[in-house]
Formats: sequence, structure tokens, C-alpha cells
Amino acid sequence: MYNSLYFKIILILVIFMITVMCVIGTVLINNVNSFYIDEFTDQMAQNLSEDSPLAEELQGALKTDDFAIEQLKILNSYRGVLGIDDYRNFYILDADGVFLEGSDSELGKSLQKTANLIAAMRGKPDNSQPLGADFADYAIKLADNENECIIYVRDSMEEMQQFTWILFSIILQALMFGLIFAIILAFFLSKAITSPIQSLTRGAKLIAAGEFSHELDIHANDEIGKLTDTFNYMKKTLKNTLEEVSGEHQKLETLFTYLHDGVIAFTDDGKVMHINQTLKDLLGSNYSDDFNFTRFIELLNIEYDPADSVQSADKKDGVEGDGYNVSDVMFDGKVLDVNFGDISYVADNTSHRGVLAVIHNETGRYELDKSRREFVANVSHEMRTPLTSIKGACETILSDPDMAPDMEDFFLHMAVDECDRMTRIVSDLLVLSRLDNKRTQWTIESFDPDKILTHICEVMRVDAEAHSHELRYASNGTLPMISADKERIEQVLINIVSNAIKYTPDGGTITVRAAAVAQGLEIRVRDTGIGIPSEDLPHLFERFYRVEKSRTSERGGTGLGLAIAKEIVEAHGGTISVESEPGKGTEISLLLPLETKLESVE
Ligand code: ADP
Repeated sequence: MYNSLYFKIILILVIFMITVMCVIGTVLINNVNSFYIDEFTDQMAQNLSEDSPLAEELQGALKTDDFAIEQLKILNSYRGVLGIDDYRNFYILDADGVFLEGSDSELGKSLQKTANLIAAMRGKPDNSQPLGADFADYAIKLADNENECIIYVRDSMEEMQQFTWILFSIILQALMFGLIFAIILAFFLSKAITSPIQSLTRGAKLIAAGEFSHELDIHANDEIGKLTDTFNYMKKTLKNTLEEVSGEHQKLETLFTYLHDGVIAFTDDGKVMHINQTLKDLLGSNYSDDFNFTRFIELLNIEYDPADSVQSADKKDGVEGDGYNVSDVMFDGKVLDVNFGDISYVADNTSHRGVLAVIHNETGRYELDKSRREFVANVSHEMRTPLTSIKGACETILSDPDMAPDMEDFFLHMAVDECDRMTRIVSDLLVLSRLDNKRTQWTIESFDPDKILTHICEVMRVDAEAHSHELRYASNGTLPMISADKERIEQVLINIVSNAIKYTPDGGTITVRAAAVAQGLEIRVRDTGIGIPSEDLPHLFERFYRVEKSRTSERGGTGLGLAIAKEIVEAHGGTISVESEPGKGTEISLLLPLETKLESVE
């Protein structure tokens, strides 16, 4: 309360009022006082000077024996002129100041010897009025050859004091009214000053709370009005600046969020300043609220000290400028590239140096490189086997010029078979390469799947019967027409059925079923063959993948058939899946859409 502007204005006005009243009162009372004394002195000097009629009459009365009585009479007749009343009296004293006669004999007998009286008794009247005295007096000495006396007039100034008191109470009343008026005035004055200040304070609080829409009203063109106007302008500028800053922040935030690289920033004491979602996902349950720099480098098994990198940035291996790169970091089955860099930031008005780490997930590239290497190794391996056989066959023929014709024939056939195998591999690889590069020329047509499946079963039956298999075809009701690349779908089905024949011991049963389902056409090829172990199932559609390499190559497989089947079915917008139980049999299922998304190439 004592700090409020209202209180301060009241205090200032009250002090001002009291000061003004005190000054006016003091000056007024002093002036009235001295005016009264001056008036008294002048009046006495005028009437009691040596050549005045009163003084002459009094001088004349000295000649009489009873001069005091005479003088009393004279002075009584001059009462009005001398202003004699209850407060002012005259006294006739002898040369020693002893009372003889006077207007008030009671007072006259107890008269004080004042400075003026003493001066008159010595014959050197002074009649000056001492400052601050509570009376005024005037004394003259009269003398002739016989008698001497002192005429003394004394004013008790009580009248003057009463007047001063009245004046004082008037000033006091004026002061009271002045104070009441000052309080009321202070109220309105402070209201006029504080209400725009309060509205500015409210505005400032709203800004501090992030609310910028509130516009302050300008009521006057004075300093406060100008301050309000400047405040509104400042708010607008601040709003624009904040919007710009938050826009930039938003951009960075979005950039960080959608960045495929993980980003993490640490403060100089190792606390996490920022981490993006990509890195949180990468770290998974390893990331918690108390995650810090030490935990980070421990987790990734990296040896890195930010202090070292700053001091010897250019000396260490792998350190470029103020960045530090660690490649091929293995974490949770992933391969990561980690780049460290210094960042400066300001906190609590001091600048600090933190660490920024950018984590690039290289697993995809690593896997790709790995699969490429594996692919090259597989192709080389697949090629080397027939090449070795061909080379062996040719060398055997060459080494024995007298070889029997039937033996020569056997080796030549063997070389031709191996050439055929190589041709199959190369043509399968070409098919896959075209599928990979989207250069396959599709011929899309509408056909009846029932006819195709009946035809395939008829063609394959010869092969199946050679292994004493029973090949059955069962369609569930009428099948819908399907639009697809007929030849390639045929190729896929032949591959699946021939696998079923190949991997089923003689005397087995192969069942082909087809049915219309919600998503299109479903074809299932089931056999009662050797089956596939569950650990091999996820890899079955990979290139060159064979469950038992020695066993399958005996059967002339390339390990590319199912990979091609998968590519063809998926290119049509369908799916291929496998269910199998070792020793019991395998079922390969195809789900094809009735209308493929593929288009024919003219
Ligand atoms: P391949 O030309 O070697 O048969 P595929 O890609 O057609 O190549 O098949 C890949 C591997 O999957 C085969 O080598 C075989 O081990 C296994 N496989 C495929 N079909 C069957 C099946 N019906 N029963 C058991 N194993 C199968």
C-alpha cells in the first residue's frame, strides 16, 4: 500500500499543503505581530514626543505639588488617543520607577522593570521592542526643576495574541479543508495516472503469458498515451519476431523429426538437450529420461572424449576440423555411422559448448552390399559347378583318343546337360534382372484360370506319373475370369507344381486347388513331400536359396524359381506364401487380384 502511486501522491500533496499553510501562517502571524507593535510604537511616539500637546501638558503638570494626580487626569482625557483599554495601561512612576498613579493601580504596583523603562529612568529612552516579547511598552521621562516622573505605557498584547490564535485556527481549518481536497484530488490524479499504467501492466502480463491479440486503447495524446502507443508497437514487433523465431524453430523441429538420421545434442555437463524421434526409435528401451552422454557412448561402444577432440581436433585419425566420425558402429543388429561435432549454445546468459551427434543408419547399404557380395558368390558358385563338370568331361575325352564311342557320347551328353543348366541359370538371372529393372514386357490378357490350371495339370501329369505321383486338380465352383500375364502366371504355376513333384518321394499326392476369394483368385498347390524346416521358410523366396544344397542341385534346381515366382506375383499385385511341415508336405499359396495393375507393353 505504501508503495502505491496513490499513497505517494497523497503524501506529496499533504506535505505540500502543510508546508504551504505553515509558511503562510508563519508569515501572516509574524506580519500581523510586527504591524501591531509598529502601530503601538508609532502611536506612542506621536502622542508622547517632546513637542506633542500631551507631553507639554504633562510637563506643565509637573509644576504642581500633586503632579501625579494632575497627570492622571490629563492622561485619562487622552485615553482614546493612546488606545488605553483592558489590555493597554498607562502608569505614572517616580524617577526610581515606583508607581505613583495609573489606569490600573493593581498592575502598576507589580510592574516589571523592562529595558525601555530602565532606559527612560536613566534619561536615555530607547523604546525599541524586543523580538519575541509578549508585551510592548513605551516610556518617557519628564523633569523640571522640582519634580521628575516617568510616563510609562504598557500593552500586554493579549488582544494581539487572541487575534493571532483566531488567525491560527482559521489557517488550521483551511489546512483541514485543504487536506480533504488534496486527498480527493490525489485520488482522481492517481486514478488518471495509474489506470493507463495498470492497463499497460495487464498488457505486459498477457504478453509474458504469450497472448498477443489484446490491443491497448489509447485515451490521450499525452506521455502515457505515447507510451501506450509505443507499447502496442513493441508488442506487434515482438509478436512478429516471435512468430519468425517459432517458425524457424518449427522448421527445425520438423526437419529433425522427419530426418532419417538420428540427431542428439548434449549440454556441456552431458545432459540431453535435444533428441529426435528417429534416434529415440533406434535406441528403443535403452533411451530413458536420465539418458546422458556417457550412457550414449557406452551403449554404442565408442571411445570419444569431447575435450580431446577440441584440443587436438586436427591431429587425431578420423577427426576433421571440429568433427569426429566413427564408422560401422554395430548396435542392436544395425550398422551405424556416428558423427560428433561441437555446438555452442547460450544458457543463463553464458555461452557453453555442447556436443552434437548425428547417427546415420547404414544397415540398408550394409545389407545391400552384403547381399550383392552373396549374390556374386552364389552366381560364381552356381556357374563353377557346371563349368567344372564340362571341363572334366572335355578333358576326359581329350585325354583318351581311343575312348569308346558310347563313353564319349556319355561325356558329351554330360557336357551338354551342364551347358543347359548354365543356360537355365543365365536365363533365370536375366528374367530376374528385367523384373528388378522394371524392363519386363508384360502381355496382359483376360483368361479363364480353370483352363490354364487344367492344361498345366495335363502337361505335368506325365512327369508326375513318372514318379508314381497322383496329381489332382480341384476347383471350388466356377472360377472368375482373371486379367494377368497368362504365360508368366503359367510359368509360376509350372515351377510350383514341378517343385512339388521334385520334392515329394515317389508315390505321393499333389493337389492343385483354386477358389474365388474376396481379394481375387486363390491357388494352392499341396504335396505330401519332404517338407521344409521352419527356419528355412523365411528365406525360401530368396535368390539361390535352397533348403539342402546337395539334395536340390541333384534335382537340377537353380534356386531361382521361387524368387522369380515371387517377383512375378508381386508385380501383378498379388502375394505368395508357404506353409510346410517337414516329412508331411508343403503348401504354396498364390493370391492374385482379378484385375492386375500391370499394363501390356505394345
Ligand atoms: P529349385 O530350382 O532349386 O527348385 P526353387 O526356388 O524353385 O529352386 O526352390 C527353392 C528351394 O525350395 C528348393 O531348392 C527346395 O529346397 C525348396 N522347395 C521348393 N518347393 C518345395 C516343395 N514343394 N517341397 C519341399 N521343398 C521345396
